[in-house]
Amino acid sequence: MEFIIKPDPAAVADYAAGIVSALVAGKPAAAIAVPTGKTPLPLFQRLARTARRQDPALDQVNWFALDEFVGQNIPGESTFAFLLEERLIKPAGLSLQQLHSLSGKADDPAEEAQRYEQLIESRGGLDLAILGIGGNGHIGINEPGTPFDSRTGMRELAEGTRQANTYLFPSTAVPGRALTMGVETILEARRVMVLATGPAKALIVETLAGAAPNPAVPATALKEHGDCVIVVDAAAGALL
Ligand code: PGA
Repeated sequence: MEFIIKPDPAAVADYAAGIVSALVAGKPAAAIAVPTGKTPLPLFQRLARTARRQDPALDQVNWFALDEFVGQNIPGESTFAFLLEERLIKPAGLSLQQLHSLSGKADDPAEEAQRYEQLIESRGGLDLAILGIGGNGHIGINEPGTPFDSRTGMRELAEGTRQANTYLFPSTAVPGRALTMGVETILEARRVMVLATGPAKALIVETLAGAAPNPAVPATALKEHGDCVIVVDAAAGALL
């Protein structure tokens, strides 16, 4: 696991966009897992510019949403799929067909999770998993305690995760469950890149750097990955 410290969120996004561009220049139909949350938004802006300049073109990439809220009554505009459509796919002028996401309204979430695993496999596996990190060390919605051998499936959101997502649910309660790629599913990506910015992430970044692999801090599973980079800004890396 390699830590890279950049001065600010813009520089983190520039670096991350460079990683994506280099991958796609060599493999136009790369399969890339993408997170939601606030951290990746500057990266999405840069990817939209990259796509519009066709340098490289991003129109064959298979984008895989990392996770999705579960519930029949979730407003469409509160879903992670919507966020990725509005913040990544549409600004980049890409086709919605390129975005694969988990359906949080599926009748059988276990079946939906299996469909997603098979879809990832049918695209040759993930070339790159881009992740955020929760203040509690979650990756995707794999909250503390999730086994490292977990596959894509349904999880309960930790209370802190629900609170961190209230901005997506201005008029309804944040759902209690989500579908997410599993820890092991993420570990199978050929390359992993975690982004963390802002002072609120400093403690968990410090913990991640110092801790041995331990399901109490799910992101520590990435220490068992051979090609994982943690890209932080100065504020998130302040305690390193
Ligand atoms: P954030 O979420 O980017 O909004 O901080 C990250 C996460 O919870 O994984």
